[in-house]
Amino acid sequence: MSEAREFTKGVPAAAGSRPLPPFADEHQDLRASIRRFVEKELRPHAAEWDDERWFPNEVFAKLAANGFLGLKYPERYGGEGGDYLHDAVLIEELGGAGSGGLAAGIGAHVNIATPPIFKFGTEDQKQRFLVPGIRGEKIAALGITEPGTGSDVAGIRTQAKRVDGGWVVNGSKTFITGGVRADVVVTAVKTSEEGGHGGLSFLLIEKGMDGFTVSKKLEKLGWHASDTAELAFQDVFVPDENLLGEENRGFYLIVANFQWERIAMALGAVAAMGRLLDASVAYALEREAFGRPIGKFQAIRHKVATMATKFEASRALTYHALRLFHEGHDAIREVTMAKLLSQRAACEVADEAIQIHGGAGYMKAPPSAASGIERAARDLRLGPIGGGTDEIMKEILGRQLGL
Ligand SMILES: Cc1cc2nc3c(=O)[nH]c(=O)nc-3n(C[C@H](O)[C@H](O)[C@H](O)COP(=O)(O)OP(=O)(O)OC[C@H]3O[C@@H](n4cnc5c(N)ncnc54)[C@H](O)[C@@H]3O)c2cc1C
Repeated sequence: MSEAREFTKGVPAAAGSRPLPPFADEHQDLRASIRRFVEKELRPHAAEWDDERWFPNEVFAKLAANGFLGLKYPERYGGEGGDYLHDAVLIEELGGAGSGGLAAGIGAHVNIATPPIFKFGTEDQKQRFLVPGIRGEKIAALGITEPGTGSDVAGIRTQAKRVDGGWVVNGSKTFITGGVRADVVVTAVKTSEEGGHGGLSFLLIEKGMDGFTVSKKLEKLGWHASDTAELAFQDVFVPDENLLGEENRGFYLIVANFQWERIAMALGAVAAMGRLLDASVAYALEREAFGRPIGKFQAIRHKVATMATKFEASRALTYHALRLFHEGHDAIREVTMAKLLSQRAACEVADEAIQIHGGAGYMKAPPSAASGIERAARDLRLGPIGGGTDEIMKEILGRQLGL
């Protein structure tokens, strides 16, 4: 197999010679520099980190040294003074590492855990968690899901009881990306007896607080390089200054946070589809059966045509949602649609990529020509579940459409 055919080297989804809106020429340098970083620092280790079920914390330090953990944050906090489009470039290019788990592990910190600290945090909280977060010195995770409740966010049971000077927390969280290594968990808790929409709050729960433990590191179908934790809270005292945002307004923080998380997931899926498509076309031209390249069989050509259509449709909708979000519009409908369409499409594209590669597509280890495709297929399966399931996306859309 030639190096150029390795699927992670395929032309990334949005990296043609002319950027597609909402990306512009100003993003090209950033794209090139992240790509160099990914090729040098991440891609060579992707398979090894997946096997080890862990990537080193040093990755955060290296990303930070290049400014990649703070692209969208103001310079006064150590960020680069950019915006969400810069982070979108990061998301697309991180896909080039060929490990969904690695991208997710970084993404949990950058895309879902630090944004609420920036958006809702006090100046003191930003200094304590965002500034070191951008430097890669403190890793943040977002803790919402519990063993008893996922989709039904309002059903959170982890209880924070008011005491003098703070809160005492009891309960548990599960499926928390980055939760094993996290220095701070942005944690959803119930701060009223009834809980629900008007009774949730967020607390910044720190590693080392008495009674806070990682009860389990969870094994998964994919996303192997990322650590996924079950967390336990037993009479954890959390001081007043760690309340994030307003008391009992946590549900609105969750809703606000979901928008960028879902765009980020859509961007990741689109980038993955672009790479899988490139790899499949290359393989269809190279691999011969019955005396001709398999791409000359109509059955294979049609698969590729369908994959390309799913990719382009997902990209168009995702970039549309990204543009609206970036311009500050209410884009719940478009973001929800982009997440829904892209995640399922990515699973289908990955499945067809395996089929086109035949037995090689099912193989894990190099030197298979399809090295990394089986990993992509496993990693992408999380898409229709994480960040809100397909069914929940459809429920949101149903409401948006007046039903
Ligand atoms: C690898 C991984 C990483 C994750 N990382 C994080 C993280 O960092 N932080 C975090 O807080 N969470 C995280 N999650 C949790 C994730 O957000 C939830 O798994 C997801 O929201 C679904 O919740 P659930 O698993 O409890 O499924 P459930 O809510 O129990 O749903 C089970 C099934 O029922 C369906 N269903 C539920 N309600 C309805 C309805 N009203 N109508 C129709 N169907 C319905 C669902 O769509 C699904 O098919 C992660 C999950 C995974 C697997």
